[in-house]
Amino acid sequence: MKRAIYPGTFDPFTNGHLDIVHRAAALFDEVIVTVARNSSKKPLFTTDERIDMIKESISSLNTVHVDSFEGLLVKYAKEKKAQVIIRGLRMISDFEFEFQMALMNRKLAEDITTVFLMPDERYTYLSSSIVREIAQLGGGCGPFVPQGIEKRLKEKYSS
Ligand code: ADP
Repeated sequence: MKRAIYPGTFDPFTNGHLDIVHRAAALFDEVIVTVARNSSKKPLFTTDERIDMIKESISSLNTVHVDSFEGLLVKYAKEKKAQVIIRGLRMISDFEFEFQMALMNRKLAEDITTVFLMPDERYTYLSSSIVREIAQLGGGCGPFVPQGIEKRLKEKYSS
């Protein structure tokens, strides 16, 4: 049984994240998309809102589950009996930080492997922060996020 976790802030979940989830689901028996609760990023959406949005987006994938975590990622991975951490790589600019994190996590837990997946080229320019910025400025985010998330972004910025 190969179980992978896909951690992130997902503020909000985008089509790039969804692309990575589909690829991971094709490779592993079970995938847990897990929302970071202790993010220093001051997220726009609450943890529960982010979990709901991800659940709605992945409802057709029955080997994918959604959870949240706090604290050390490798500790959480062990608790969940996951052997793999999934991360998405968009550009060279992601590489330095991701490489450092992956090596540090390996130092902390030799038996957990980080696997990097690349999204379709269409999503390489996409990030949650650019989606938030577009929404804040009143632009349409429909092409960049799974169904239902554009409406939630509009609601956030109108309140
Ligand atoms: P974090 O705060 O962990 O960077 P994010 O929600 O920004 O959280 O991203 C979670 C993971 O998804 C990271 O590995 C990130 O590189 C990856 N990711 C983000 N956007 C995309 C995208 N458009 N395509 C592929 N991977 C992505």
